[in-house]
Amino acid sequence: MAEIRSPRLLMEECRRYTAQLSELRTLLEERLHASRAELARLREPYHVTLSATRARPSAARVRRARHDVAAIEAALERMDRGLYGTCVRCEAFLPLDRLRLAPHVQLCAGCAGETRMTA
Ligand SMILES: [Zn+2]
Repeated sequence: MAEIRSPRLLMEECRRYTAQLSELRTLLEERLHASRAELARLREPYHVTLSATRARPSAARVRRARHDVAAIEAALERMDRGLYGTCVRCEAFLPLDRLRLAPHVQLCAGCAGETRMTA
């Protein structure tokens, strides 16, 4: 039997959850903006930005920036579809601390292989 809770407590929980989502959306949007700017910078024709201090961006850096933009866009899309905050593999809720550090993550620590089983 499900736990019976007062409507007031449910409303409080709902408000807290909405506030957390809103905080994470802001984080995602800030990071999307920064990642898109980084990608645009990396794609500038080399001769335009040629300077003694700036090295030609490596293909790996461009790939990385492109990957970041795609991952953040995907997270925002999941948020719009109401799927944000759960592991795409096991559907466990992702801890808020984990999402604050990396709001675009799609896997829980277990599925991402970040934790080891102890014997
Ligand atoms: Zn998982």
